[in-house]
Formats: sequence, structure tokens, C-alpha cells
Amino acid sequence: MIVIAGPLLHRMELIYQKMENEYDKVAAELGFSCEGCPDNCCDSYFEHHTCAEWSYLWLGFSQLPDSIRQEILARAEACQRACEEAIGREERPQVMCPLNREGRCILYRYRLMVCRTHGVPAVMTRPDGRTLNFPGCFRCQEVVRERCQDQEKVPTMERTALLRKLALLENDLLEGRRHLLPKVRLTIAQMLLQGPPVMPVAHCRR
Ligand code: SF4
Ligand code: SF4
Repeated sequence: MIVIAGPLLHRMELIYQKMENEYDKVAAELGFSCEGCPDNCCDSYFEHHTCAEWSYLWLGFSQLPDSIRQEILARAEACQRACEEAIGREERPQVMCPLNREGRCILYRYRLMVCRTHGVPAVMTRPDGRTLNFPGCFRCQEVVRERCQDQEKVPTMERTALLRKLALLENDLLEGRRHLLPKVRLTIAQMLLQGPPVMPVAHCRR
């Protein structure tokens, strides 16, 4: 099992803390918050790509009482089925995350990067030099249209450095073998149903 612990856990928490700080800064500049939002974006379909986040999520999940874990796993199965059905119809799934209980995240402290950054406009430069722009959620886009006179100067979260740090952490967690291992591409439901990440046998340290 891949367990994020010690200095690597500390690095993960620093990355998440910085993400939250950067998000809060941009949200404050825009005067934007989730308060009163009629939507709940925890039903958005996202895939996640690191064992570091997967392992961190499991750190939180494994601390929940057994009865709640069983309830969440049953919801994760239903979520997974509904996503597969939507994909089968060539639709983008819109299914509530199994960790959302009565509108709130039961593992808020352990939620993933996308959950922490979804709302506000963001930009990132990929290793191949391509720049990706994220406009923020629908409600934040309305705020930007209303409040930003100059669309060239919209407050924007810069994700590049944070993603680089996450990639380095992932590589260290996987003992420098990240490039040799299968790529992670999992929804939160899949991360829960598959159990915590494991190092493939051929790559385990003896
Ligand atoms: S991020 Fe946007 S869509 Fe999601 S809850 Fe907040 S305001 Fe609503
Ligand atoms: S992990 Fe939490 S914040 Fe992220 S989608 Fe699920 S319920 Fe929402």
C-alpha cells in the first residue's frame, strides 16, 4: 500500500494550504464566495491523477467509523454505475460525489485539488509549454462579467507552481518511478472503491 506520511505528508498539506490561500486571495479580489449558491459542484465529473492525492484521501477515509465507510462505499458503487451509464450514452456524468452528505463534504480536510480550486478563474502552463485557462465555475463567471471592467485584468489563480510541486511530491512518493507506473486517472468514487493506492508488485522495494 502507498501511504503518504512523515515529510511527504507535510509537503502535501503545505501544497493544499498554499492552494487554499491562493484561492482565497483571488476570491477576495473578485468579491466572490460560494455562499448562497443554488448549485453544488460536487456533482461535477472530474478524474484525478496522483497517488499522493489518492493516498491522502484514504488517510481521511480510513479514520471514519466503519458504518459510515460502508455507507459511503455503497454510494460510491451507485455513483460509479451512474457515471458509466452516462458515459455509455455519450454524456458527461453529473452525479453527486459519494463523500457529499447533505450538501457538505464529509472529508473536507482531505478533499482533492480540484475541489479546492474549482470556483475561481485559473491559469496553468503545462510542461510542453501550452497554457490552459480555466474560467471558474458558472457563478464566478457571472461575477467576472459583472465586476471586471477590463477582461484582460481578471484576478486569476496561477496553478503552475503548485502543480509542479505536486508532481515532484508524486515522484518522491513513488520513489522516483512515476514515469514507469501506470497513469492514475480515477474519479473519487473509483479511488474509494479500489482501496488505497498500491505499488505494482514488480516495482515494490524488497
Ligand atoms: S464553486 Fe461555484 S458552483 Fe461550486 S458551490 Fe461555489 S459558487 Fe457554486
Ligand atoms: S471530495 Fe468533498 S468537496 Fe470534493 S467533490 Fe467530493 S464531496 Fe465535494
